[in-house]
Amino acid sequence: MQKLIMIGTGHGFVFDCYNTCFLMQNDDKYFLIDTGGSAHIVQNLQKLNINLGQIHDIFISHCHTDHILGLFWILKRLAGMIRSGKYEGSLNIYCNDEVANSIRNIYPNLFPNLYVDLITKYLNIVILNDNETKNIAGKDYTFFDAKARGNKLYGFETELDDNKKLVFLGDETCNPEIYDKIKNCDYVMHEAFCLDSEQDIFKPYEKHHSTVKSVCENFKDFNIKNLILFHTEDTHLNNRKELYLNEGKQYYSNNILIPDDLEIIELN
Ligand SMILES: [Zn+2]
Repeated sequence: MQKLIMIGTGHGFVFDCYNTCFLMQNDDKYFLIDTGGSAHIVQNLQKLNINLGQIHDIFISHCHTDHILGLFWILKRLAGMIRSGKYEGSLNIYCNDEVANSIRNIYPNLFPNLYVDLITKYLNIVILNDNETKNIAGKDYTFFDAKARGNKLYGFETELDDNKKLVFLGDETCNPEIYDKIKNCDYVMHEAFCLDSEQDIFKPYEKHHSTVKSVCENFKDFNIKNLILFHTEDTHLNNRKELYLNEGKQYYSNNILIPDDLEIIELN
């Protein structure tokens, strides 16, 4: 049984939910996708009853603060766990070269030498090339350059049970050069910054982001069975699902999912 466990669903500067990051669960194995920007990554994993000792594989899509900074809080917690014998094995970080350079440059300056030495021993940074496939937590993931306008951004596609396919596109409006990867997919994960009616307030296009309407209109003929939208503003969390679904359904006839933080989606 594969599950998608949403740890956070907000954009880069939210306060009332956590930044977008999630786990791909395959039976008892976990693969963490992005880390958000704060120590809440550790807290939200605790709320989900997931021990950091179970996490040995992390993918960081790009260098922005809301995707990479949570990693340093994970590293700090893991260093403590290693010291007390509660973490075994290595921690693999899959990322592009830009992200790898940032991690290598930053972490030695953040912690006491004892921690830096421990982290250096267990950290295994795997630099990904465009269209490279890795078997992670028991499933194949093919990572690709999403051809973003900002920092170098990687997404991935993976085959689920029953030959179903899921594609994660990171947090920029999908570049039309990528459209062929997402057509006829079972699950596509894409950002939607805000409602179209509120674009004057949140100005998504300035940041290479989308509105619910713009994603749904762009993808309406792609035969994507489940469109998962996240990386949103945080002013409507109590009724975000309803508001976003109402807007999306006017332009998109297949299933749309607007997950909340800590929500678990069964991929079947
Ligand atoms: Zn982001």
